[in-house]
Parts: sequence; structure tokens; C-alpha cells
Amino acid sequence: MAAEVAVVGGGLAGCTAAWALRWRGAGVRLFDRGGPSATRAAAGIVNPITGPNLTLEPDFRSRWAEALAFYRRVEAESGQALFHPMPLVRLFDSERQSTRWRRRLDAPGYRDIAADLPEPPASCDGEFGGFEVATAGFLDTRALMDATRGMLGDAWERVEVPPGEIAARSGGGMQWVFCEGAAAQAGSCAPDAPFAGFQFRPARGEILTVQSFGAPGDRIVNRGGAWLVPLGGGRFRAGATYDWDDLASGPTGSGRDEIETKLRRWLRAPFEVVDHQAGVRPILAGRQIRCGPHPTLRHLWFFNGLGSKGTLRAPGQALELAERLV
Ligand SMILES: Cc1cc2nc3c(=O)[nH]c(=O)nc-3n(C[C@H](O)[C@H](O)[C@H](O)COP(=O)(O)OP(=O)(O)OC[C@H]3O[C@@H](n4cnc5c(N)ncnc54)[C@H](O)[C@@H]3O)c2cc1C
Repeated sequence: MAAEVAVVGGGLAGCTAAWALRWRGAGVRLFDRGGPSATRAAAGIVNPITGPNLTLEPDFRSRWAEALAFYRRVEAESGQALFHPMPLVRLFDSERQSTRWRRRLDAPGYRDIAADLPEPPASCDGEFGGFEVATAGFLDTRALMDATRGMLGDAWERVEVPPGEIAARSGGGMQWVFCEGAAAQAGSCAPDAPFAGFQFRPARGEILTVQSFGAPGDRIVNRGGAWLVPLGGGRFRAGATYDWDDLASGPTGSGRDEIETKLRRWLRAPFEVVDHQAGVRPILAGRQIRCGPHPTLRHLWFFNGLGSKGTLRAPGQALELAERLV
């Protein structure tokens, strides 16, 4: 008999789990309470070299191939465009960062992924130089949610699974996969709940959609903690902030100011803000992704901690989860 699986949470973790479980032949029901989430806010960027230290994502090539194949399969089955490969330009912020980059190039892997940038994109200040990565792009995370909702039909229910009921969810041979993102702290990871003990360090993030007719439309550009992702038609996503203290607020004036100020430091084209969103990134202590069964309650599974790299990491984790579960 095919496994019956209930997934709690319809963000990136729950959606990728639902597809992977279906591909293994499981019957899937998904419960999502709706409202703001990290996945609804995310830019969905895949970027192999990140942060002020220019850190190369381990096993990037194999993760990229796995993620791309996953999203292409969902696209083929749903008819929705989801993943948009495009080059990513990183502009340095200082001479120090440029020197750090030249040292980085001697480490294994960097030269295979990135090349020096001959000149900065039009309308961007790049006085310290930069590099360009061809294997990058972004996932339309809201389109993934729509595609998953379309695939599941009535089996996607807009329902909140009450935190108090989570431990009791064991009926009828059903397996449960908890993918609640940062809300798991009050759900499957609450003090009396089955996955109590996982330590979260979530970060709220704000993001803007801007209209600009002079900004570069063919590449993702990243400088000084602010990036710009072209969506087409002169629209861009711009972000993002990190706030570890105030997790409760939605979009704020100070978040918007922060992104606009950072962008204006290097973007010479004018822009106008047309949308502003916020979500909470589910980050676990040690930045670990946790994906697997409960040690003793074997009908309960957990998939969380995608942090800032959900787009790249979720497909591989979801496939592994489905292989173990079904
Ligand atoms: C501003 C911002 C920008 C980002 N940019 C990027 C980026 O460029 N690249 C990248 O890879 N990552 C990015 N991220 C991170 C990425 O969004 C996350 O890694 C990913 O979306 C997390 O997915 P999730 O499914 O674990 O959590 P969520 O997306 O938060 O989904 C959890 C879902 O569970 C539901 N839920 C919770 N509790 C219950 C319950 N009891 N009953 C029913 N439903 C429930 C919630 O409503 C929600 O829909 C960004 C995040 C933010 C906030």
C-alpha cells in the first residue's frame, strides 16, 4: 500500500517535500495556515560565493545540478516557470575585499566557478572591481507554492495544525512531516512537543520590489549587503535585511530605509519602491539543516533550518527525506 503522508507547512521545505514524496508514489496531504512566510518573502537567489568573507558553498556543483533538475521536473509537470538561471555579479566594497578575493582564487574551487569582472554593469559603481558567476539564478518561490497547490488540489488545505495537537498526530498509519519554518518554535519544537530541543536562531528579513528603468536587467548584482534581482519589465527585487531581535514585525520603515540606503551607495539609476514584504528565515543553531525522522516516534519527521540557502539546499534534502520515508 502507498504511504500516506501529511505535511505541515507549505513553504519551500513543505513544497519540495510534497513533490519528492509524490514522485516516490506516496499519497500527500499538506496543511498550511496561509499568511506571511519566509518563502513568500524570499528572493530565491542561488549564489555560490557569499558573505563578506566570500565563502564558497561546499559541493556547489553537485547541489546546483540536483536543484536545477528538481525545479525543471516541477516545471515540466506543472507548466509553471520557476527557476531563472542568470549570471551574478559581486562588486567589491573596498580594496581589502578585492585583496581577499585575489587570495581566495588560490583556494580550490573558486576559479572553476567565478571569473574576474572586466567592467561593472552600466549604472553600478564598481571602483574596487568584482567577479562574475555564471552558475547562479533565482527561484520564483511564490510560483513554486502555486505549482504545488495546483499539483495537490484539494489535498492542500488552508488549515493551522494547532501546536497542542502535534504530539497527538499519530492516527491511521499516517506519517507526519513538520515543515513549519520558524513557527516550529511554537509548534513541533515547543517545550512539550516531539522535536523540543532544536535551538532556533531565526532572522527576520525585509525585501523590496522596485521599478527602475536604468538598473541592469540581465544579471543579479550584489554589493555591500544589498542585491538587485531583475524580474523583467523594469521590476527588480531588492534586499535584504537581517534582524535577529524583532521577529514579530512585518515590513518596517527602518527596513525599507536600510535597503534603499545600501542600494543608493552603488546604484546610479533612479528607482521607485512598489512593494515591501517581510518573513522570518528559519535558522537553526550551527546553521544546520535538520531533515529526518524522530528518534523514537518513527511516524514523525522534521524538515527545517533552510536558513538563507533554501533554494539550493531544499531539493536535495527533500529527495533524501522521501527516499527514507517511502
Ligand atoms: C527577505 C528574505 C529573503 C530571502 N532570500 C533568499 C534567497 O535569496 N535565497 C534563498 O535560498 N533563501 C532566501 N531566503 C530564505 C528562504 O526563504 C528560506 O530558507 C525558506 O523559504 C524556508 O522555507 P520553510 O518552508 O522552511 O519556511 P517557511 O517559508 O516559513 O514556511 C513555513 C510554512 O509553514 C506554515 N505553518 C507554520 N506552522 C503551521 C501550522 N501549525 N499549521 C499549518 N501551517 C503552518 C507557515 O504558514 C508557512 O507557510 C530569504 C528569506 C527572507 C525572509
